[in-house]
Amino acid sequence: MERHLPNTLLLNAGFEPLRIVSWQRAFALIFQEKVEILEEYGFIVATVSRHYNIPAVIRLNRWVNLKRTSPIIRFSRANLYARDNYRCQYCHKYFPERELTLDHVLPVVRGGKKTWDNILTACIRCNQRKGHRTPEEAGLKPLNRPVAPRWLPGMVGSMRMRSAPEIWARYLRLYSDDPFPPLRAADHEA
Ligand SMILES: [Zn+2]
Repeated sequence: MERHLPNTLLLNAGFEPLRIVSWQRAFALIFQEKVEILEEYGFIVATVSRHYNIPAVIRLNRWVNLKRTSPIIRFSRANLYARDNYRCQYCHKYFPERELTLDHVLPVVRGGKKTWDNILTACIRCNQRKGHRTPEEAGLKPLNRPVAPRWLPGMVGSMRMRSAPEIWARYLRLYSDDPFPPLRAADHEA
């Protein structure tokens, strides 16, 4: 039964995601008073004397410098799709990888660059519809502003973006420098 219990997202003291830990490891950190609990799943583990809520997100009390070891996210098709959560940024629908493409926000023919901040994930239909226009010219409203992600779940294991629990979403900060971007209602459709 314990095998089905979810993992816990561990954040640095500055709220940046560090790694995914088992719930047992999360409890060890809590009992050692090294972390504070930010979110709980609502699942209970019972011992003879007490009941414990499984922590979903915990945060270190003391900041750990991981700059030396933190990997730079490679600029690649797969990582762009992961950043955008396999979601067309124009029609806001999720697609399998083979039905996705990369759209240059400012088209290449008009001087658009192949950079994190000029590329969005799009479905083939939206990409064709947009053509050599900007989103504004095509009447399209991108879901997110393209930026270089600071962290992807793949960096802490083989985990894919889509399998990250929803309760982690606002701590992953993939799209903005705002420490707590609000969860979008549309995210719950997935
Ligand atoms: Zn689309």
